Amino acid sequence: MFMLEYDVVVVGGGPAGCMAAKYAAKEGASTLIIEEDAEIGEPVQCAGLISKRAVEESEISDSKSFINCEIKGAVVHSHSYELRVESPDKRAFAIRRDIFDKELAKEAQKEGADIILRSKVKSVKKREGETKLTITIATATANGEKEIRASVVIGADGVKSAVAKMAGLNVAKNYLNCVQIEGEYETEEAFAEIFVGKNIAPGFFAWAIPLGAENIARIGLCIDKRFSSHPNPLLFLKRNLAEHPVIAKKYKGTRSNITAGTIPIPVGVGTGAGLRGRRQKTVKIDKEAGIMLVGDAAAQVKPVTGGGVYYGMKCGKIAGEIAAKACLTGDMKVLNSYERRWQKEIGKEIAFGLKVHRLRCVISDKDFDTIFHTLSEEKVLQHIKGKGDMDYPSVVFREFLKHPRLIKLMARNILKYLYTK
Ligand SMILES: Cc1cc2nc3c(=O)[nH]c(=O)nc-3n(C[C@H](O)[C@H](O)[C@H](O)COP(=O)(O)OP(=O)(O)OC[C@H]3O[C@@H](n4cnc5c(N)ncnc54)[C@H](O)[C@@H]3O)c2cc1C
Repeated sequence: MFMLEYDVVVVGGGPAGCMAAKYAAKEGASTLIIEEDAEIGEPVQCAGLISKRAVEESEISDSKSFINCEIKGAVVHSHSYELRVESPDKRAFAIRRDIFDKELAKEAQKEGADIILRSKVKSVKKREGETKLTITIATATANGEKEIRASVVIGADGVKSAVAKMAGLNVAKNYLNCVQIEGEYETEEAFAEIFVGKNIAPGFFAWAIPLGAENIARIGLCIDKRFSSHPNPLLFLKRNLAEHPVIAKKYKGTRSNITAGTIPIPVGVGTGAGLRGRRQKTVKIDKEAGIMLVGDAAAQVKPVTGGGVYYGMKCGKIAGEIAAKACLTGDMKVLNSYERRWQKEIGKEIAFGLKVHRLRCVISDKDFDTIFHTLSEEKVLQHIKGKGDMDYPSVVFREFLKHPRLIKLMARNILKYLYTK
């Protein structure tokens, strides 16, 4: 039987997969992306808020094609406090993920990667006596199953990665549950709004992201159900739209593009993580073949904001480059350097973000008020404006934690977290 063969097969055509494929192809490896959906970038499960750095990281020349609008700052609402931070320069954008992902896929194709759509990867196996991996796909176009062989398979198949499960590389055990709509909303000069509170979005936050001139916003939230009175985020969204003193007033009742999704909470990332529990593993080598994970499949997300587009692309580049090198040299041990390189880039940030996330889950509404009140002090506010970075939030968080009023509050909440656990 005729069988397709590639050096690298990337499962999933999201930002992480497209970037991995682009860099594998660029480095000279024959590369294929397999995507189960009929179109790259659809359906969208994203608020589409990314940094200027992420726009640059995408290497898409025509950024106008996917940008909804520039985000000029953020207003953070706690129960009875409002903190307003205006960005001194262009730092964030609301984007259209469907177009963004399609552009990333085109860039991968330009470097020589092939793409097949409507094809779901059912299994990745190393057969007895064979050197390459066999990928079995169910395709809508080829009447049933088809097999493809590759030396390296990159699992970029998102939060519930089948490739991770098949390889025994489960990297997340907890998830945020999210829901979002697009609707008419009184937006304020392109400021993103964030809402925290136990009854608003337990364990995470709710948002309203403006999309430009037409008073339309993406309104959504995530919850960490381990800390929630109810496991369904939709219940909280409906309540926020109907009753929240700010959201309900600004929301005008229309809704479209309703989406639900999950965001992985990473485990065992960063220095010393292995000492306290399971260490995340994103590479598996089987003699002459190997499996790697990237993006949400590898839980490469910011625990503070849930954002995964920037980290996914960043790690995708590293994964693609290293996969190609392993294939072209025939030395699969090269794949181990992927783990080291991505952890070096974002491991510490994720580890710190995990601590912030755990604290946020137990902080009371009253303590959130105190925190935002403290952060609104002119000196602290200037610091946030100067150093605030949505991709590397630990920089400002570390500073906050040194504030005399917050040291005691945080210490109390650390104890509370340990007790709750
Ligand atoms: C409600 C919500 C809001 C979010 N908002 C933001 C935000 O504002 N900013 C931000 O940075 N991040 C945000 N995120 C996170 C962001 O969407 C993800 O981190 C990002 O999409 C991860 O990219 P990825 O390429 O790893 O995976 P995905 O984008 O999930 O791509 C995975 C692809 O794999 C395909 N696939 C899955 N299984 C198979 C299979 N067996 N065979 C073939 N194909 C398969 C899927 O169809 C999909 O196309 C949000 C997430 C949610 C749920």
